[in-house]
Amino acid sequence: MTREDMASFRPETLAIAAGYDPATAQGAAKPPVYLTSTFVYDSASQARDIHEAYFRGTGPMAGQPAYIYSRLSHPNLTMLETRLAAIDGAERAAVFASGMAAHSAIAIQHLRPGDSVLHSRPIYGGTDGLYNQLMPHFGIHPVPILDGCNGDHIRAQADLALSKGPLGLIVIETPANPTAAITDIALVVAIADEVGARTGRRPLVVCDNTFLAPFAQRPIELGVDLNMTSLTKYCGGHSDLLSGGISGRAEVIEPLLQLRTVLGTHCDPFTCWLVLRSLESVAVRSERAMANAMLVATFLRDHPKVAGITYLGFIAEGTPQRAVIDRQCKGYGSTFSLHLHGGEAEAFRLLDGLRLVKQAVSLGGSETLACHSATTTHYNVPAEARLAGGITDGTIRLSVGIEHPDDLIADFARALDRV
Ligand code: PLP
Repeated sequence: MTREDMASFRPETLAIAAGYDPATAQGAAKPPVYLTSTFVYDSASQARDIHEAYFRGTGPMAGQPAYIYSRLSHPNLTMLETRLAAIDGAERAAVFASGMAAHSAIAIQHLRPGDSVLHSRPIYGGTDGLYNQLMPHFGIHPVPILDGCNGDHIRAQADLALSKGPLGLIVIETPANPTAAITDIALVVAIADEVGARTGRRPLVVCDNTFLAPFAQRPIELGVDLNMTSLTKYCGGHSDLLSGGISGRAEVIEPLLQLRTVLGTHCDPFTCWLVLRSLESVAVRSERAMANAMLVATFLRDHPKVAGITYLGFIAEGTPQRAVIDRQCKGYGSTFSLHLHGGEAEAFRLLDGLRLVKQAVSLGGSETLACHSATTTHYNVPAEARLAGGITDGTIRLSVGIEHPDDLIADFARALDRV
């Protein structure tokens, strides 16, 4: 496939065609798994040239595919990174052992003691812990954004962050875990530009695109610097692997690749192979899951025991959130929260009454999963921070899968009868 072909294909096609050339593997239609930890050189001088190319980007081997040791990179990683970058519409991608390994690399690479960081809230509990529990030990000052569609609020929080130290990163997760709260990506990019113009240091904008995955939301096209995705979720799609990707301009991705070598958080060959395969079907799986989610959400919204749900498709017309969703999302996703009348006891009764839907954390798999956010994914987030992010004791997060929708609705109906 030529560069021109690549440029002309749509993301759904690139998810199948990009990253692997059968000519590199004796015509095998699907890629082999390169289960090796190290790579053999032709000669000592070639070994030196390969190291020069890897570490300096210069010399006779610069730009040529050559491997040293699998922690630095390996063929399955290259295939996956090429495909992910192509799908995301980015120059380069870096793939890590998990989504949190990817988030951690961004924080370590781009923040220095004394810096501040702005992040949307709610945000996945692990990311919340990274910025609010771990990073403060290294002298980083986190500041939350509580309304990601309100420019005045985001600017005020940026000023608060700047009063604590230079703003290094703006990290947004949209739609957010678990409530599907929305942040206006283009607005945040514009505010990062304003901060850069005012202070001489433009913070990098990181968007966690895990909830909508690469087809229903395109953060690179909206100007973010680092597009992060937990590949564990919709991209992996079968709840059987852990992986995380970051895509963006070569100049912001390449330092992360070098850092990954030091951290040892690369994605292993077999997992890369699995993700590469799963990416081929993520568009169709997501479409089916989103169609199911609409049906399940409609059933739940109309049920008397349900106080509310945070499904994107039901955000009221005329609200800022609706305008942002219409502008930046090509679908409503299939993960959202259900708020029951009552609290933990009612939520537990519903969860314990489910027979088809499994109780588990994670999301984006083929099967439907449910969990009680306050006591699972957001267990470690302090209660006030949880409430500020809209997570109550009655909040249950659902990740709707690709089963027959009638079976899912029947399961929820039966379980709600027990509440
Ligand atoms: N980002 C979001 C939105 C998530 O939901 C998760 C995990 O649930 C992560 C990041 C972390 O990804 P991983 O579990 O692959 O480390």
